[in-house]
Amino acid sequence: MINFKTDYSMTIGGKLVKAKATFPAYNPATREVIAQVPEASEADLNSAVDAAAAAFKSWRKTSVKERAQALNAIADAIEANQESFKALLTQEQGKPRAGAEWEIVGSIIWCREIAKQSLPDEIVEDTADRRVITRFSPLGVVGGIVPWNFPVLLAIWKIAPALMAGNTIIIKPSPFTPLCTAKLGELSRSVLPPGVLNVVTGGDELGKWMTAHRGIAKIAFTGNTETGKHVMRSAAGTLKRLTLELGGNDPAIVLADVDPKAIAPQLFWAAFQNNAQFCNATKRLYVHEDVYDAVLRELVSFAKTVKVGDGSEPDTQLGPIQNAPQYEKVLEYFEDCKRNGYRFAVGGEIDRKAKGWFVPVTLVDNPPEDSRVVVEEPFGPILPLLKWKSEADVIARANDTPYGLGASVWGKDTAAVERIGSQLEAGTVWLNEIHQYSPYQAFGGHKQSGLGCENSLHGLMEYTNWHTITLNKKVNFGRATPSKAA
Ligand code: NAD
Repeated sequence: MINFKTDYSMTIGGKLVKAKATFPAYNPATREVIAQVPEASEADLNSAVDAAAAAFKSWRKTSVKERAQALNAIADAIEANQESFKALLTQEQGKPRAGAEWEIVGSIIWCREIAKQSLPDEIVEDTADRRVITRFSPLGVVGGIVPWNFPVLLAIWKIAPALMAGNTIIIKPSPFTPLCTAKLGELSRSVLPPGVLNVVTGGDELGKWMTAHRGIAKIAFTGNTETGKHVMRSAAGTLKRLTLELGGNDPAIVLADVDPKAIAPQLFWAAFQNNAQFCNATKRLYVHEDVYDAVLRELVSFAKTVKVGDGSEPDTQLGPIQNAPQYEKVLEYFEDCKRNGYRFAVGGEIDRKAKGWFVPVTLVDNPPEDSRVVVEEPFGPILPLLKWKSEADVIARANDTPYGLGASVWGKDTAAVERIGSQLEAGTVWLNEIHQYSPYQAFGGHKQSGLGCENSLHGLMEYTNWHTITLNKKVNFGRATPSKAA
């Protein structure tokens, strides 16, 4: 058992490493500093790349079975420490107990299920004349860059397929949520050879060094769309492989035949799960005009039953905004709504003196389609409800965005639900359900929501190079061909 309460280190080449500088980690529910974390220098990153490159030489030769055992051992280690992980996740991220449970249990499940996935050699041709095989060879050292909303699960989404495909990896958590990841690195030392999984902690600068590093073959990045563009530019210098999981502005379309009272809790959690700090949160709620008033009324009354507070208190359902810059960003949307006279159906008033970075659950009543709260990604608990009448019009409005991460459609008429859903431009379209993920389900964004995907064999393949090997079986170089002159 390791101590989760103090002493956060980086994990480099199987050793716990401090850095010359440190930075603070906060509890967002109290704004208190809860730990000091090593701030990696460029030399620390170089050490991690060297360690990962050295480990790659033998890790790439391991069998699928050995890699699967290693992932199951990581799952066992998380499971054995799950209570400590959940408590620390609530403390550093702010999410209440149920959210922490979902994320940590999800991380265990993902390790175990990705461990069952592999990419056997493809026999393209095997005749008397030739044999052609395509192998899926590992890339080398992978860099995983992770955001602060699901710090553990999104790290595992990178670690599990990277290792399963025979790569070694360096994970950089967000500077706002480094603690659980530091402990994950520490734990991994007892189950993985040194250098197979390294954890470096630091700010955005560290991410930039990773994307430009000559020793890193691929970057698996989850974060903001604008940051994703920086990553892509920087990675171009060494033509790194990239997976980019970026921002979203997911529409939900509600048909006229729904029961407003019955559907309100589902629509509420679709938007506000993880305090709306969720790439796939419903960020625009299009409700048919026939039921608009009733759905709004039911959502308001449901919102009033939800307890916002410190996630460590047992009855809390929504926590704070995770960090100070995000808190300031979310407040801009409130101010913009007020400035423009949009109506808050519930919420809207911020108590800046609250102990933590708390923002009330807020519903905006039918703001204009081009308002900031509709067009942008607030990434906080402020949701616009919009009216629609014609199916063609609502589909066009839902698709009128540079984003294309997720979408959902809700209604009793399943033919209409499917017809509308099939026209939505998004990587995942949920029909009469939402936020169902699986290690076997490809997840990724269309348009500026990303590049490539995570999960499933498609996601695993992104951690490999195609390696086509052909053999001409007819040639016999052993027997000399008589020349004409002879
Ligand atoms: P962010 O882009 O600010 O930071 C993400 C990570 O990138 C952090 O570790 C950060 O330190 C690092 N980083 C910052 N600048 C960098 C640079 N120039 N080069 C390399 N690395 C850099 O994102 P965030 O605020 O932590 O997360 C919120 C965003 O993430 C939202 O837009 C959300 O929609 C998105 N997100 C997407 C998914 C998805 O799967 N598509 C999942 C979760 C979050």
